[in-house]
Parts: sequence; C-alpha cells; structure tokens
Amino acid sequence: MAAVSADQNRAGSLPGPRRAVILLGPPGSGKGTQAQRIAQRYQLPHLSTGDMFRDNIRRDTELGRKAMPLMERGDLVPDEIVLRMVEDRIAHPDCNNGFIFDGFPRTLAQAENLERICRRQKFGFSVVLYLAVRPDLLMRRLTGRRICKLGGHIYNIYDRPPKREGICDEDGSELIQRPDDAEAVIRERLVAYEAQTRPLVEYYRARGLLAAVDGNDGADPITASIMKILDGAETLK
Ligand code: AMP
Repeated sequence: MAAVSADQNRAGSLPGPRRAVILLGPPGSGKGTQAQRIAQRYQLPHLSTGDMFRDNIRRDTELGRKAMPLMERGDLVPDEIVLRMVEDRIAHPDCNNGFIFDGFPRTLAQAENLERICRRQKFGFSVVLYLAVRPDLLMRRLTGRRICKLGGHIYNIYDRPPKREGICDEDGSELIQRPDDAEAVIRERLVAYEAQTRPLVEYYRARGLLAAVDGNDGADPITASIMKILDGAETLK
C-alpha cells in the first residue's frame, strides 16, 4: 500500500536530533504489536498512553482512579490529563533520542498540543504510521487479544496463539484479557475512535507526515512494510 517518500518525511520534520514516531489507527489495528517491534529495532522507548493508565490503575494512583471509570466505559481520558502525563514522560532521559507513540495523540487538541510540546523540546517527527484495517477484522483481533502479565507481550488466540495455552512464550507468565476488550466496551471504543481520532488521519496527511500501511495482513508482513518506510525516513538513520 501507499508509503510516503523520504521527501515527504523530511518535509514534516522539525529540526533537532530527537526522533518521534506516531502509530495511528483504530483499536485492534496492531499499534501495540508493531510499536514493540519498532522500539526494539531502533532502540527507542515505546510510549503507550493506554499502558501508562493501566500502570497507574494497578498502582492505585490519583491518575489511575480518574482514568479507570472512563476506560471501563470505552471513553477517552480528558486531554489535559493525557497531555500532562505525556509531557512528563518525554522529559525523562530515556526519551532523549526519541520515542514511539502508541495510542497518542487521539484527539485534534492532543495533536495540536503535541506539536507545541515538540517544538519546545526540539523533537522532530519522522513519520506518522497509519494502520488501516477493515472494520470486520477489528472485533476479531480485540476479542481474541491476550496480553502477558509480566512483559506485556501480545498474542491473539485466533491468529497468533501462544505455544502453550494461557502462557507467554517469551517469559512464561500468565496471559490475561484486558477488561475493555469485552464486546460492549469495544463497540464504544470504536465509536470514540471514529468521532475523535479518525480526523487525525487528514490532519497528518495535510502536513505531509502520514504513511499509510495496509494493516489487514498478519503481523510479520505489516512489520516488514513499516521497516521499509522507517528505513527510508532520513531522520531515523
Ligand atoms: P489503548 O491501550 O491505547 O487501547 O487505550 C486504552 C484506553 O486508555 C482508551 O480506551 C482510553 O480510555 C485511554 N487512553 C489511552 N490513550 C489515550 C489518549 N491518548 N487520550 C485519551 N484516552 C486515552
């Protein structure tokens, strides 16, 4: 499927040595799986705002208590909370060379504020990878998703099952289902995506930053397409 040229990538880049990649796409499009692989390949931290909220919920922080009821319903957490959390996170030294965003930004206000934050902190956007997936595949991927408790490794009982049922191949820990991967909540998350996040596709396309990837395939061919795009992006070299 269409990939942006290196020129387009450069056009949207901000000056500075720090590299930022955004993964955009509906719930179930494979952002988490691909972000883990990109992070490993380029040695950049994988910043999943969903994981940050889940971690806060586990630790029963004030942030976690605010986010939990919204996440349980499939609603988005308010922009100001997300933005404060992200700005704090990217100020950590492990983000000095850049980072991979997974699940952020999710609204136009988040995208606009991110631009300001990046200008201030001198981050340059390499590319926004848009994982386009047929709607009928999303429900199957989300209801079949299982996540390892220890390392967050992602499986799918239909398409990418672990070798031993319920056990992570990588670290032997238990595989669990996310509470918001229940069908009724998935439907709400997809509604929130259509209303609030999909407009970002045009937003980034207009800025020459969007690289669309065919996300209907299996995880490995999708990774191959992404690596081709990223290897061609000047700012990642
Ligand atoms: P995810 O793990 O990316 O599917 O996110 C799980 C849930 O966390 C979402 O359904 C939202 O409730 C919340 N969340 C994660 N990222 C954001 C964000 N950027 N803006 C608002 N809410 C978010």
